[in-house]
Amino acid sequence: MRAARLLQAPSKPEQQLVLSRVSKRNPYVIAEVLLRAAGICESCESPAPFTRVDGRPYLEVHHRIRLADGGDDTVENAIALCPNCHRERHFGAAFSEAGSGTPPEFKSDMTQGDPETGK
Ligand SMILES: [Zn+2]
Ligand SMILES: [Zn+2]
Repeated sequence: MRAARLLQAPSKPEQQLVLSRVSKRNPYVIAEVLLRAAGICESCESPAPFTRVDGRPYLEVHHRIRLADGGDDTVENAIALCPNCHRERHFGAAFSEAGSGTPPEFKSDMTQGDPETGK
């Protein structure tokens, strides 16, 4: 059944043009939060899982109250997270904001292919 469905699916996916509204985030807030975290996830307190090409530890900056929900783009409302903790904030059952399907805002985390500059 699953195997048959796999065989029927086209191997080249159909293309879709996506238009989305994203918040322009303050790069100084991102920089300040990453400095504060100093390479340590501010949720699980593990070190960043890897180093960026430019030598900085890889963490993602998340807003505690989402910008889409009226949260502020400030250092106080932002938290530096490892990728696992960041996904959990958006998709995990432990967080009440999650659980109602894929939050579209998560796409803004991936702005310009860089979650650091996302939500
Ligand atoms: Zn973490
Ligand atoms: Zn986020």
